[in-house]
Amino acid sequence: MNNKKRREKLIKQKKELRSMLERFAKEDTKPKGDWDTKFPKFDGGALEEAADEVEEYESLRSVEHSLELKLKKTNEALEKMEEGSYGKCSECGNAISEKRLSLIPEADKCKDCNN
Ligand SMILES: [Zn+2]
Repeated sequence: MNNKKRREKLIKQKKELRSMLERFAKEDTKPKGDWDTKFPKFDGGALEEAADEVEEYESLRSVEHSLELKLKKTNEALEKMEEGSYGKCSECGNAISEKRLSLIPEADKCKDCNN
């Protein structure tokens, strides 16, 4: 896959991640790139229901964190593409394999450093 195609893939991924996050979280403008999970409304339901909502909130928060991280990495990968440093491991500086980049286009570490 060439970089042009990969860039398109990253842009598409960025849009998808944003729309997923928008469904249940609100973007925090300060600091940039941080999202907050919306707390579900408590509309006078039973205590049990409230507990369920807290549980749901907790699981949404963990989903939010992983989506947020992926979005951050996607944005960084796009920035690196602009700079021409895309595909290099941020730890050891070696090239990240084609196979790995095809699987995870936003990868910023090689397979060895990611372990
Ligand atoms: Zn490395």
